[in-house]
Amino acid sequence: MPARQQLRQQVESHAGGCCEYCRMNQSLQGATFHIEHIMPQSQGGTDVLENLAWACPSCNLHKSDRTQAVDAETGVQVVLFHPRQHNWDEHFLWDEYAMMGRTSIGRATTMALDMNHIRRLQIRQAEERLGLFPPRDSTEIK
Ligand SMILES: [Zn+2]
Repeated sequence: MPARQQLRQQVESHAGGCCEYCRMNQSLQGATFHIEHIMPQSQGGTDVLENLAWACPSCNLHKSDRTQAVDAETGVQVVLFHPRQHNWDEHFLWDEYAMMGRTSIGRATTMALDMNHIRRLQIRQAEERLGLFPPRDSTEIK
């Protein structure tokens, strides 16, 4: 197997088939998820496992080459969620179908990646009917 394909499989397998930002499950999506460079190649990010995340097209396109965004609550620019350095549950939680930031990083990432677009909420509702939402190991507001 070519090295690039092997790397792709490693990233997907590590992610358990879910987007590492919004936790959407790939199984219901027509589009194949992307290999996302956490530190963009334009800023020196390389093709090493620690710099690659499994991302749905929407998260990948919204993140683009950004690594920082403003937390609207504090007005402070912070780093975006880093799937290899940060723990998802420390920064996000679910409020029904909406993804909420628990921290500055979580809030800035939720806004920057447009995590609560109406289509995303509809996908989460559809995933729920198939037992795919909320994703395993994530926290909900009860
Ligand atoms: Zn996503």
